[in-house]
Amino acid sequence: MQKYIFVVGGVVSGIGKGITTASVGKILKNYGLTVTLIKIDPYLNVDAGTLRPTEHGEVWVTEDGGEIDQDLGTYERFLNQSMPKKNSITAGQIYAAVIQKERAGDYLGKTVQYVPHIIDEIIARIKDAAAGYDVAIIEIGGTVGDYENMPFLFAAKALEQELGRDSVVHMLVSYLPVPHHLEEMKTKPTQQAVRLLRQEGIVPDFIICRSAQPMDRERKEKMQIYAHVPPEHIIDAPDVDQIYQIPLNFERQELGRKLLQRLKIESCSAPNWSGWQQQIHALTQKERRIAIAIVGKYLASGNFSIADSYVSIAHACNHAAAALGYAVDITWVDAQKMVHEQCTDISTCSCVDWQKFDGIIVPGGFGASGVEGKLHAIAYARQTTMPFLGICYGLQLAVVEFARSKSALHGAHTTEVDAATAYPVIDLLPLQKELLAHHDIGGSMRLGAYAAVVDPASKVAALYRGARRIELDTQTGDSLVLERHRHRYEVNPTYVPALEAAGLRFSGHYTRHDGTRLMEFLELPEHPFFVATQAHPEFTSRLADPNPLFTGFMQASIERLKTR
Ligand code: GLN
Repeated sequence: MQKYIFVVGGVVSGIGKGITTASVGKILKNYGLTVTLIKIDPYLNVDAGTLRPTEHGEVWVTEDGGEIDQDLGTYERFLNQSMPKKNSITAGQIYAAVIQKERAGDYLGKTVQYVPHIIDEIIARIKDAAAGYDVAIIEIGGTVGDYENMPFLFAAKALEQELGRDSVVHMLVSYLPVPHHLEEMKTKPTQQAVRLLRQEGIVPDFIICRSAQPMDRERKEKMQIYAHVPPEHIIDAPDVDQIYQIPLNFERQELGRKLLQRLKIESCSAPNWSGWQQQIHALTQKERRIAIAIVGKYLASGNFSIADSYVSIAHACNHAAAALGYAVDITWVDAQKMVHEQCTDISTCSCVDWQKFDGIIVPGGFGASGVEGKLHAIAYARQTTMPFLGICYGLQLAVVEFARSKSALHGAHTTEVDAATAYPVIDLLPLQKELLAHHDIGGSMRLGAYAAVVDPASKVAALYRGARRIELDTQTGDSLVLERHRHRYEVNPTYVPALEAAGLRFSGHYTRHDGTRLMEFLELPEHPFFVATQAHPEFTSRLADPNPLFTGFMQASIERLKTR
């Protein structure tokens, strides 16, 4: 029988519900169960695609083209498993679906109401996403007591009533502050979160206690008395250096065994954490460290700068480095603040002290700001032996830089920045022009996974082959590589011959049904590592299975570090 675990938050948001959900999923998967993870966002947007990164951090792209909350990324990274877009449920989707059904006359003349119609729609979607798995873990966004998450708590309770106590677990992730002036851990806010949850008819089975430091016995006893939760179900979750340590910390408190017992399920295998532990060891050691510059556009939000918009790239760097026994020190170089105009010779450039880095990444991005700085970083990498990885906008700008300097296409640009450029080497193809003309913004980029045909003799193909991520098309004999996309602009096919003639190698492409060839990968054969992709390889990187482009980039960066 299908089992459900609901994860809700207490006291404040941002305390790691997503990581807790992913960690519990990882633990149960390690016990041999099949697990899926579902995120509920109580906002009215249909998806995260139209949300500003300053509002919501980086947008995660699923294999089937969903633009989703970053929590789905955490789930995939922990479980080493792709999650489809139906695993992201928003209040916007629920209301839109119910209203659509009402307009279509599906409710047969009934008054359409919050209870049961909204609740039924929520439950139907949870069940649909959970179908076929032993356990579904559902994270409800926001905090208990928020108006907006009430329907979801109602649905959780309704599901418990339908299936019985043995099939549903409620887990509260709460925060225990240690106010500076008191230097004492306070349990009162959590007691109140428990009370709020009880008002919705939900009694937490487990409380995950997030705090800056470990909990002592006194606090645990207090929680037990006030929250009526058995002491062995009060799980300590102090801050850690590396998020991947969290499942291990839970397992030290036997959370997995306790969950199985509570849900009355047998484990299928004994968990083995040795590979996971080895990688954490690499990530946390101090001696072997690579210095990487990520040259991006960092958006300020009030007094804070949001490096969060590239969070998946940082994770992908960590995964690849850890597999090679290294840790990564990332420097976020703000392309908008680079003083490149004064620079006459890029190879001796002092805009940024490039020498202290082992590799440069130019990540994805939108719009004109910071573009000149990014072009400058690309030029530096191309002219020296600095390893370079370009991602999405990073590929497009690598093409612009190469066109200007090596193909004599002076003033070449992307039409995203300069609509009147004489050489639009990066441009919108007709389909995207049409969509934009109709203001069709939401969900209309080139989204999700596409299989690129790669040149078997290229560096890119060798990397994917090494990671066993290449497939042979049995009919055509083509070597195929799958990566996820999120962009509107493309390399303009008109300029591909000129760029190739000047030495740029496009090592992978995708052929659209109308015959248009979209460039997916490029490389410079003579350079130690100058590779870029139109896709977002960071979305398919997991701790247990790093993305091959990042592995290649890190390997080259390690080589450089050794000769530095
Ligand atoms: N701005 C570019 C485009 O829309 C690149 C987008 C990206 O880097 N994700 O094509």
